[in-house]
Amino acid sequence: MNERDSEQVAHSLMAIGYERVGHESEADVVLLNTCSVRDMADQKALGKMGMLGRLAKERPHMVFGFLGCMAQARGASLLKGLPHVDLVVGTQKFHRVADYVDELVARKKNRISENAERSTPNAQRPIENRMDDLRFSVVDVEEEADSQSTIRDQQLTPRQATAFVSIMQGCNMHCTFCIVPQTRGAERSRCIGEIVTEVRDLVSRGVKEITLLGQIVNLYGRHEFPKVDNKSPFVQLLESVHEVEGLERLRFTSPHPIGFRDDLIDAISRLPKLAEHVHLPLQSGSNKVLKAMHRAYTAEKYVDLVRRIRRARDGIAITTDIIVGFPGETEDDYKQTRDLVEEIEFDNAFVFRYSPRRDTPAAEMSDQIDEHLKEKRNQDLLEVVNKSNRRILERLVGSQMEVLCEGPSKTNRARLMGRTRTNKIVVFPLSPKLGSTDESEKLVGQLVNVRIEHANGFSLYGMPLLE
Ligand code: SF4
Repeated sequence: MNERDSEQVAHSLMAIGYERVGHESEADVVLLNTCSVRDMADQKALGKMGMLGRLAKERPHMVFGFLGCMAQARGASLLKGLPHVDLVVGTQKFHRVADYVDELVARKKNRISENAERSTPNAQRPIENRMDDLRFSVVDVEEEADSQSTIRDQQLTPRQATAFVSIMQGCNMHCTFCIVPQTRGAERSRCIGEIVTEVRDLVSRGVKEITLLGQIVNLYGRHEFPKVDNKSPFVQLLESVHEVEGLERLRFTSPHPIGFRDDLIDAISRLPKLAEHVHLPLQSGSNKVLKAMHRAYTAEKYVDLVRRIRRARDGIAITTDIIVGFPGETEDDYKQTRDLVEEIEFDNAFVFRYSPRRDTPAAEMSDQIDEHLKEKRNQDLLEVVNKSNRRILERLVGSQMEVLCEGPSKTNRARLMGRTRTNKIVVFPLSPKLGSTDESEKLVGQLVNVRIEHANGFSLYGMPLLE
């Protein structure tokens, strides 16, 4: 979601004449779009902005800003201790960033010219005074009606195969560990027509795979739109997007297990463009911990849901999120999570150590778990997850898979990479059959059949099968 929001901000700046540069040292404007879901993400953003202070001293005309969740949660307090920060913009105001930036750039430029005309040459004044002269701050973390409809434009790179489409913002669930309802506000959904128009436009520009985004994506529209023929607004949306001609694959993330009702399971079995992958956050395998988290389902219901999803579509991949070390998690609670993870055999899982977040109920719970114990459980569970991931990848060796080629591999530019419908990464060489590197690169953005030759770590490796 942050990636998508950042793209929107980049698009709005480029629309008024700004350009992307490769490195912050070449930039006139540096904006950090922040995440608050774990303390480490907050600290990383603060550390990064602190380091950027050096650039501010060398190039006082630069504009620096915090955007997103941390900006929303901390507001103007982010200006204290970081005097070079000019802009703090929350999660409902991404569409205002370009105007704010433009105004700050112009004000700084004017002040620099004014200073240049003063009798004391600017370069002879202490650097702190010069920075003080250029301090204009803008803080906007207010709520804004209909902000969910403002994330709707994006620049595409040449032959871009995949795109995210934001369908809603906010969450009303109040899981006790989570800061998102505070930083992203209450659930608000865009209407189906608007979303379909955006998808149609992206597909007409060459995109083949769309991922619908929402904090609680499968509860899309529940406050705004009625059920029709017993189908939830989310299933109605899936059906409408599914009809877009030229769209090859449709994904969504992240759903909540309680939003997986029969109509959605049925949609998985009958809408062929829905890719065979569901990310289904489990969080814990212990009913006691799930209750303390306010997750509103039991481990038994989760297992039953996995069984129904697997029955609805052959070979569907299931990935998950798990928190270890939630307050009060005993050895037995952890063991229940571990056993469940072994039993389900997830395709992959993101395992997190519980991180207390300010003003959340879990942060106030008395029985916090020692960091060493969290880390031990984290490592132990990762081993279980990695083993099942490897087993699943090895089973695919020898098979032929449809891969949507996304571009050169990040680790070896001489190879291409893409994803299967089950969201597995596949790396394959440029094809000698196509004669030249340029011709091979035409595979970017295309569906390619690849024979899988081996599995290594988290990726599959193979050879493209070309006519
Ligand atoms: S459903 Fe997800 S986003 Fe909403 S409160 Fe729970 S964990 Fe946070």
